[in-house]
Amino acid sequence: MLEPFRDSLWNIPAWAVVVMYVSQGVGVLAMIYGFARRASLYFQDAQEWKLDNVGTRLRHTLVYAVGQAKLATQKFPGLMHAMMFWAFVVLFMGTVLATVDQDIMELFFDSKLLRGNLYRVYEITLDLFGLFFLVGLGMAVKRRYVDRSTRLSYDWGWRMMLGLLFAINLTGFLVEALRLAVVEPPWQGWSPVGYAMALAIDLFSPGEAVLRGTHLALWLFHALLVMVFWGVLPYTPLVHLVTSPLNVFLARVEPHPQALRPISDIEEAESWGLGRLEDLSWRQRLMVDACTECGRCQAVCPAWAAGTPLNPKYLIVDLRNQMLAEGGLPHSAIGGFGEGYRPDIRRGAQLVGEVISDDTVWACTTCRACVYECPVFIEHVDLIVDMRRYLVMDAGRTPEGINLTLRNLERTGNPWGHPPGDRMKWAEGLDVPIMKEKGGGGLPLLGGMCGQLRRAQPEDRPCVCAPAPGGRGGLRRAGPRGELQR
Ligand code: SF4
Ligand code: SF4
Repeated sequence: MLEPFRDSLWNIPAWAVVVMYVSQGVGVLAMIYGFARRASLYFQDAQEWKLDNVGTRLRHTLVYAVGQAKLATQKFPGLMHAMMFWAFVVLFMGTVLATVDQDIMELFFDSKLLRGNLYRVYEITLDLFGLFFLVGLGMAVKRRYVDRSTRLSYDWGWRMMLGLLFAINLTGFLVEALRLAVVEPPWQGWSPVGYAMALAIDLFSPGEAVLRGTHLALWLFHALLVMVFWGVLPYTPLVHLVTSPLNVFLARVEPHPQALRPISDIEEAESWGLGRLEDLSWRQRLMVDACTECGRCQAVCPAWAAGTPLNPKYLIVDLRNQMLAEGGLPHSAIGGFGEGYRPDIRRGAQLVGEVISDDTVWACTTCRACVYECPVFIEHVDLIVDMRRYLVMDAGRTPEGINLTLRNLERTGNPWGHPPGDRMKWAEGLDVPIMKEKGGGGLPLLGGMCGQLRRAQPEDRPCVCAPAPGGRGGLRRAGPRGELQR
């Protein structure tokens, strides 16, 4: 019995093979050019490149980018993404293997790599993963166009990539089915999807000439679609195939990443915070470019739920789109259904104030729910705090009402502006030991809220927690400006 083997160029004339290689070369070159243009947008500052904790970073990348640990916490989107991601990886590897088989083994060694049992496994694996890909794409279409999830984006980039991936997959299956319908090799059952389609084609009893002609036309069309896919990849949301794992790898790995970043060189700096596009570091540029527009941050944001203008997803996508617009690259104008969202993205627009409104920046509660949810480790809060720093320290723009609070804090150390000496007033008439007089022991920490809030003052205090008589605990007495004495 004839040993199974991969007959990759069945029915393909030499000129079509040349067309295929030239088109793939053009597509890959266009992709490299596109990625280079995109990367050139990142490196616009002289910030230092420092790579530490490489082991932890690699582990994060394996768990969160390859293993998609955060995505898996939501069943439907997690399954959908896993099917498409792994199918894409397996199909890509299958294409590489087929190229090695055809262009290296056959051409230079007159031998076949994909034959016998290896070929059987290859065929069934690629067929099944191709099917998974179609199912995953179907799930994506359902979420977008049937369920119409409000946390997703609906711009040209997503429509084009979903359509392109679907067409590439379908034409791949059709080419296989047409070949099987003519050749009918004894091992065709190892390609279950292609074989089923070949049987369906047989029902119409087309002649061999029609099958061969259609096969060649679809083979060329498939190659053309793949060329377009490579060429447009750097300009579409699928660029996250590259930017998201990179961002996960480079994300903060300190044990307490919830702490706010201090302002570096505060004494020397001529401007503070993030107000203009130029203020974005290369890390921040890569970070906003890594957004997958999944909307998980939007779904958990209390500010967005409360009806404020802040939507963490829009904030990140606005930053990215402004960066792309300044670099002359195409960008998406996103908008969830029914929300009438229109970002003010245009060359030369002021980042904070025009693209992102002051109200948006001040609406954040810094709860970090968005950061916790983001599957690709985007740090929304750092960006928002930087924008606030710009507004307060550089532009001198603060929301109504906060000026008084800031002035009070500066003058009296408490937001209400009460005399600092009143800090211990609440304890008047109570037998509350003072540590300085009593010495040592446990220490209930009294913040400004308890110490200065008038409701907690003697005439109105609801309760006071103090150490048991004879205990070693006590309070620190407040100093003349309300500060706690040591
Ligand atoms: S940190 Fe700000 S942007 Fe993020 S979820 Fe909380 S309120 Fe929304
Ligand atoms: S910022 Fe993160 S969570 Fe929000 S849409 Fe982008 S990838 Fe999703």
